[in-house]
Amino acid sequence: MREYYEKNKEKLRLYAREYYNENKEMVKRKSKIYSKEYRSKNQDIIRIRKREYYLNNKEKEDKRIAEWRARNLERVKEYTRNWKERNPENVFNDRLLVHYRRGCPKTVNDITYIEWLKLLEVSGKKCLRCGSTEKLTIDMIVPHSKGGFLVLDNIQVLCNRCNAGKRNRIVDYRSLGHGNI
Ligand SMILES: [Zn+2]
Repeated sequence: MREYYEKNKEKLRLYAREYYNENKEMVKRKSKIYSKEYRSKNQDIIRIRKREYYLNNKEKEDKRIAEWRARNLERVKEYTRNWKERNPENVFNDRLLVHYRRGCPKTVNDITYIEWLKLLEVSGKKCLRCGSTEKLTIDMIVPHSKGGFLVLDNIQVLCNRCNAGKRNRIVDYRSLGHGNI
């Protein structure tokens, strides 16, 4: 036996290596499938653990995330764009939050996402002033600084630029119709 081994040492080594390599791939595949299954079955636990880890290593993690974002600006932009497209209601709610943060009072009749969608439809998904279809915003006809609320009757669709240009003047573009200014 020993003699046989000595004689075929190289050949045996080669077999062993081949076997190992084949097995390695199989083990890798299996562990990949396993971890995928594990992740999908334990989403909540994983999320909590990640959150805990983040809170326990906040400084280090914030730095790591900031560095990663700086290196992957385009990816971050694309992700944000995709996220906004997938989550229009969240985007709408964030816009309302901006108004509240600026001091706009909340009422029980504040515009809902469904009402906003209807308003967009009525305005032809365009800015009522310039006709742009880009970056459409919730414009308050009577600004909150002049006593206006975020209710449907006080809202018009304006693009970002026209909204900023209007400042806190009271201009109702709904009656003028698109393109008359
Ligand atoms: Zn505009």
